[in-house]
Amino acid sequence: MNVAVILVAAGTGVRLGAGTPKAFAPLCGEPMLAHALRGVLGCGEVGHVVVVAPASHLRQARGIAGPDPRVDVVAGGADRSASVKAGLDALHPDDGIVLVHDAARCLAPADLFARVIHAVREGHPTVVPGLAVTDTIKVVDPQGHVLATPDRDSLRGIQTPQGFLREVLEHAHANGGYATDDAGLVEQIGGHVRVVDGDPRALKVTSALDLAVATTLLQDGTHDK
Ligand code: C5P
Repeated sequence: MNVAVILVAAGTGVRLGAGTPKAFAPLCGEPMLAHALRGVLGCGEVGHVVVVAPASHLRQARGIAGPDPRVDVVAGGADRSASVKAGLDALHPDDGIVLVHDAARCLAPADLFARVIHAVREGHPTVVPGLAVTDTIKVVDPQGHVLATPDRDSLRGIQTPQGFLREVLEHAHANGGYATDDAGLVEQIGGHVRVVDGDPRALKVTSALDLAVATTLLQDGTHDK
């Protein structure tokens, strides 16, 4: 089964405050999207990449992708789920396994992609990478009162790339629910989700502090180890 990656890069990045959509903010002299694309294509099993970029930045995204025949660039939507849907519409008929990946996780290593793909091939229709959490997580109400403290050992911080059998992801998106990740949509239709080991290098660059961490990882080569 051919493996496709929908690389969502159409967010505005208001929280980062770079004055440009986040995926185009520079990280060690290159746009974050260039780093993200390198990680995706570094996994030899990926045959097709759909970069979902802001409509205002299609030309720049095509420039970053270059003439690589494996990469298509399409315009995203108003929210993340609309952007994933735009990516789904651009898949090839033979793309049977689909990974959805945040361009903001621009240092996700190639072996993380391989781990997720391997688990889907082994028979898990939905696979997410997860990391143990170090903070204690509390459920709070809008007034700031604590409602519950889930057992930390049972919690995982969930990352991307998230991997799916294509029909499962399409079915989940067609259902029209809301979730902050794609696996959440699968859960809403009763689907089973498998967690594999995540990777700290797949951190989501959201704030200026995250950008500083990513810069340090790149400068000392930690992202490659
Ligand atoms: O906003 P958030 O950090 O959750 O975004 C996660 C990923 O989704 C980012 O890579 C961002 O570019 C992408 N996104 C998108 N289209 C949107 C909003 C977010 O592709 N409308």
